[in-house]
Amino acid sequence: MTGIANQTREYTLPEGCPVCEADLPVRVTARGPSAVCTHCGWMGRPFITVTHQGLRVSYDDGARA
Ligand SMILES: [Zn+2]
Repeated sequence: MTGIANQTREYTLPEGCPVCEADLPVRVTARGPSAVCTHCGWMGRPFITVTHQGLRVSYDDGARA
């Protein structure tokens, strides 16, 4: 096993922005995923869930603590 603890991954969700539907760049770090739309500036945390219908993306925009 090689260490995967501090890996940072970046990927793009096609039309992933819930606001403007632009491609959404996502960065996944040890702290979890975070996304910032370069088009409209929306920020959130996408969660990828695997369902029988395929991948489902949901967002935690609940920064309202
Ligand atoms: Zn956007």
